[in-house]
Amino acid sequence: MKTLGLLGGMSWESTAIYYRLLNDLVRQRLGGLHSAKLLLWSFDFAEIAELQHHGDWDGAGALLVDAARKLESAGAEGLLLCTNTMHKLADQVQASVSIPLIHIADATAAAIKAAGMRRPALLATRFTMEQDFYKGRLADTYGLQPIVPDRAGRDMVHRIIYDELCQGIVAEPSKTAYIAEINRLRRDENVDSVIMGCTEITMLIGQQDFDIPVFDTTRIHAEAAVAFALS
Ligand code: GLU
Repeated sequence: MKTLGLLGGMSWESTAIYYRLLNDLVRQRLGGLHSAKLLLWSFDFAEIAELQHHGDWDGAGALLVDAARKLESAGAEGLLLCTNTMHKLADQVQASVSIPLIHIADATAAAIKAAGMRRPALLATRFTMEQDFYKGRLADTYGLQPIVPDRAGRDMVHRIIYDELCQGIVAEPSKTAYIAEINRLRRDENVDSVIMGCTEITMLIGQQDFDIPVFDTTRIHAEAAVAFALS
């Protein structure tokens, strides 16, 4: 089994989910007392979020690169960036190490294509919904047509991620608002599926809330990582 290096703490609420998933999935595959071989670098998310919201992506990139190199020199054989948003810097991180970075959008796109879907609603941070690094990769590399909420919807989804989910708050009105947003995108934009494109969204909604396929990026990413670790 290969050792995985996790760039986590963005936020730690979802990194805790990754930790459980990675270990569960290894136990499912190998049984008994087996568990995942992991190294974790866990950031103080307040520092990262401040850089994000000031548009200081160079500063954020420098922190990620430094941590990725430390994980590599500590023995990591593959890297996981445990957040969709920070995949904005995935190419920079990948270029700074010689171990592979398992890209969350690639794993998610593969799952969407395997399910025969092509027009997914994308719920994520404003950065992920509005910039091209994620939507563009889904469209250009995989031929998908990701659809994002309108301005008011994006603001609502983003606010709930930072003000609630990343702070451990799971609120029923927020769940209702997310479900209503998806239903609106189904009615107005004809989406055929849902990408939970932020690693905390799995705390709030899931497949049980919808009758179209839902793609949980946290789980999909963890599954891809375990497949790599056991290959
Ligand atoms: N974990 C979230 C994501 O998957 C948001 C936090 C962050 O900006 O990293 O995008």
